[in-house]
Amino acid sequence: MKDKTFDSGEWRHWYADVGTLFDSGDFSGRTSQDAIEKIALVLKNLGLGDRRTTWRLRDWGISRQRYWGCPIPIIHCPACGDVPVPDEQLPVVLPEDVKIDIGSPIKKMPSFYETTCPKCGGKAERETDTMDTFVESSWYYARYACPDNAGAMLDERANYWLPVDQYIGGIEHAILHLLYARFFHKLMRDVGLVSSNEPFANLLTQGMVIADTYYRDAGGDQNSGKKQWINPADVEVVDGVSVLKADGKPVQVGGTEKMSKSKNNGVDPQALIDQYGADTARLFMMFAAPPEQSLEWSDAGVEGANRFLRRLWKAVYEHVEAGACAAYTSGELPAPTRDFRRQLHQTIAKVSDDIERRKQFNTAIAAIMELMNAMAKLDAADPATRAVKQEALEAVVLMLAPIVPHICRSLIKALKPGACLVGSPWPVADEAALTRDEIELMLQVNGKLRGKLRVAVDATQDAIEQAALASPEVLRFMEGKPARKVVVVPGRLVNVVV
Ligand SMILES: [Zn+2]
Repeated sequence: MKDKTFDSGEWRHWYADVGTLFDSGDFSGRTSQDAIEKIALVLKNLGLGDRRTTWRLRDWGISRQRYWGCPIPIIHCPACGDVPVPDEQLPVVLPEDVKIDIGSPIKKMPSFYETTCPKCGGKAERETDTMDTFVESSWYYARYACPDNAGAMLDERANYWLPVDQYIGGIEHAILHLLYARFFHKLMRDVGLVSSNEPFANLLTQGMVIADTYYRDAGGDQNSGKKQWINPADVEVVDGVSVLKADGKPVQVGGTEKMSKSKNNGVDPQALIDQYGADTARLFMMFAAPPEQSLEWSDAGVEGANRFLRRLWKAVYEHVEAGACAAYTSGELPAPTRDFRRQLHQTIAKVSDDIERRKQFNTAIAAIMELMNAMAKLDAADPATRAVKQEALEAVVLMLAPIVPHICRSLIKALKPGACLVGSPWPVADEAALTRDEIELMLQVNGKLRGKLRVAVDATQDAIEQAALASPEVLRFMEGKPARKVVVVPGRLVNVVV
């Protein structure tokens, strides 16, 4: 501030303003912000200091001079001072016959504010300020646990449920609502209303939805740089060229950006729901990206989600139409069915972990899709295999239910007449199915691959040799000659030399 006179003996407000540094050695000529960065870096390099962000709720005036909001239950008495409204007179309810004009209407309503002092019985006035709406939003999560308690803010049920397992919100919540709610929670803890230290155990900030942008130059002067943004719903691709549906003429492609009004690239999920149903919309969004990352809106992705749901529907009905069948519980299984059942229980373990602990729904869905592909390849129809397919389809429907609830509600009824989705327990991985009791070895004759050999995991060298020499593939390629040597590479292959 070169045009102002500096006096080291007196504080003036402009000292704190931003400007350009002078008489500051190497930092002269830099803007305040630039100099802050540079000075911080120099101090850090000299080992004299470091940057730190301090989060602090500086002040918070909870009273508001307006009508909407919760009345502050205080009565002002000329003799007794500020007296709390007694419990039996709570809650103080806002009048509804108000005239809304300038200022808070209840300040002009003697019928609201004129009252008597709970202490001395003399004439007194109610507080007419109301609470900031942040007050209520700072503890609603605790009240949700005991909403029917008319005699207190909270009861023991709040301690049973709190802290909230998962807080989901945009990044702006990290600096506003979370700060207020954490402050309020610690206040409630200090006065004995709750016993936990923090209101929320985990914060998840969801990613943005991004979509393609399209535009045309806004008429007239080509160099004006003004763009007329066109909504993706009004654009279609014809022979590889993006054109406006209305006139069939090309539009410019502006790249993929965060959905916004200014770029006119918001996609209304209603059109998607009308065409494919809510389940397809939900599956697409959950599958396209982890929740904290950007989600790229894509029509191809939507169609893919819908195709998967159609395949699932078909698989369930083809299975059901082949006859009623109970889910597998125990008994011998053909080898491919046993392998498939192992994949089923690996999938149950993975999906449970992805959803409950990792909160990664896209990988859970991918694992279920892989399982359905494996089931499509399992063409055996013996009773044991059908029972495993029943077990698999029931598990798939229950695991997908949180993501695509409508279709799963129908499918579980088709698979298990009388069953209901909400009453069905989450599938549990069967440890016994996860353990591998057989392995597959490559079977060679004179070093050439001739087939595969399944042996018990703990089979001895001797047993593997015997099994190899007895296998039809080896017998065929030995052409009646005696075996000179059998080489076993544990876990990999067995080679018969003739
Ligand atoms: Zn009084």
